[in-house]
Amino acid sequence: MSSSPNALPSYLNPDDLGPWATYLEQVDRVLPHLGRLSVWADTLRRPKRALIVDVPIHMDDGTVHHFEGYRVQHNVSRGPGKGGVRYHPGVTLSEVMALAGWMTVKNAALNLPYGGAKGGIRVDPGQLSLSELERITRRYTSEIGIIIGPDRDIPAPDVNTNERVMAWMMDTYSMNVGATSPGVVTGKPLTLGGSLGRRDATGRGCFVVAREAMRRLGMELKGARVALQGFGNVGNAAARVFHDHGARIVAIQDVAGTIYNPAGIDPHALGKFLAAGRGTLLDFPGIESIDPAKFWEVACEILLPAALENQITAENAGRIRARLIVEGANGPTTPQAEDILLAHGAIILPDVLANAGGVTVSYFEWVQNASSFFWTEADINARLDRALSEAFRAIWDLAQERKLPLRTAAFVIACTRVLEARELRGLYP
Ligand code: GLU
Repeated sequence: MSSSPNALPSYLNPDDLGPWATYLEQVDRVLPHLGRLSVWADTLRRPKRALIVDVPIHMDDGTVHHFEGYRVQHNVSRGPGKGGVRYHPGVTLSEVMALAGWMTVKNAALNLPYGGAKGGIRVDPGQLSLSELERITRRYTSEIGIIIGPDRDIPAPDVNTNERVMAWMMDTYSMNVGATSPGVVTGKPLTLGGSLGRRDATGRGCFVVAREAMRRLGMELKGARVALQGFGNVGNAAARVFHDHGARIVAIQDVAGTIYNPAGIDPHALGKFLAAGRGTLLDFPGIESIDPAKFWEVACEILLPAALENQITAENAGRIRARLIVEGANGPTTPQAEDILLAHGAIILPDVLANAGGVTVSYFEWVQNASSFFWTEADINARLDRALSEAFRAIWDLAQERKLPLRTAAFVIACTRVLEARELRGLYP
């Protein structure tokens, strides 16, 4: 029953495992710390269920186009699957598997009563009209409808998906089952049973865990310089919360380019500027545009990758000057880069903790849907702060006690919970 060479699923190309390789390496690093539970390691090395669907839609020009969609339920030992849906041209099975695996770990690290899942469509949504976006969402939801549900697997927003997409998903699922089912997805618009505080929850959570780390490290929040990669769902909210607590956003990078202002960039003004369609990051007044490769060298106390995986690599890790890395994105740091950063004394707040604010408020949304009783925003933010501070404390203390990197400590706590559940439930039949 110990880990076997067969642990690698045959449906991935062994020569190009993509993000799944990063996830597997992280699992390998935790196994020596799991004691007898490590006999169940292969549970973590294979997703429970991976569904690949064909998503054909009518394009506005009358042609029919087929897209590739995925929903992976990595683990459901502790509860239903839970995790977002990503629309991106780079989506692959390997990526969705890794993201689903990280959801298993994240949900268990926060002790949410969920397993881990993730979905995606291989598409560039920027190339779709609004009605094409609606059709692709509805057809995808129908296709994965055979495995999702409020007690089975609950999707949510991720890269390039938002409240509007969740509204279509909720409606499509509800039409198919013949009853309105708000709890089938989270991250919905407020009028459809969404939760106050959900939109900014991931970014707010990045701030909460950074604040806790800085307290312990004796770092000053006032005036702390933040370099931010990504100004989407996560980066935008994180920037606002850091800014409102006295930190300075000195650099922001997104697909359009990299901007820099040592005096600080106002994320509220930048958000309004972009939302008004007045240009890209580079058109924002009062900034200097710098070479994107130089982003990693920006002098700062906090580096906040909030875009895609695989951004901090062995190639750029040596140039990073931040003391604290806050992983707003999922999987932004390769294991090789992590080793380099740790050797330089950097502290990495791992994705499974740093960006867990989103799924934590998703959980609050799901609970509110199940009881049809809604909480105040102050209550939600206070509960979020408490949940993340407590998870942080447990992970930090274990890391200190056993001299482990924070990621490994988070994996020890989470994987222990997952594998204990696995063992107690036993094998059926
Ligand atoms: N997509 C987010 C994540 O990666 C949120 C998932 C959720 O709310 O279920 O954690």
